[in-house]
Amino acid sequence: MKDIKKFEVKLEQELKLVEKELKEIAVRSPKDPNGWVPSITRETDMGSDSADSNEVADEIESLEENTAIVSKLEAQYNDIKTALDKIKNGTYGKCEVGGEDIQEDRLEANPSARTCISHAG
Ligand SMILES: [Zn+2]
Repeated sequence: MKDIKKFEVKLEQELKLVEKELKEIAVRSPKDPNGWVPSITRETDMGSDSADSNEVADEIESLEENTAIVSKLEAQYNDIKTALDKIKNGTYGKCEVGGEDIQEDRLEANPSARTCISHAG
């Protein structure tokens, strides 16, 4: 692996981006230091008369949607964290399954990839 610095820069940018997105729709879980929980930021301040059932349904739907997005972002966030830890430990770019080098173009496309192409999924 010749150009780790390049991937480190990419990963740090991605981490900031994912963290920003997470903070918009979630808060740090009080129980799990790596976990996030969706926060409902949208207040229903339409006045008491207009709180009809459609609106409530919308709220529920958006919370469910948020939960899905939060878990996706959380997984991404933790993958990036792991990759940055690996750079510190000198194990970055190694497949977690077989220990072989991960193809460089795979890392270009996804710097937080944890396995080589043959061990992906
Ligand atoms: Zn592998």
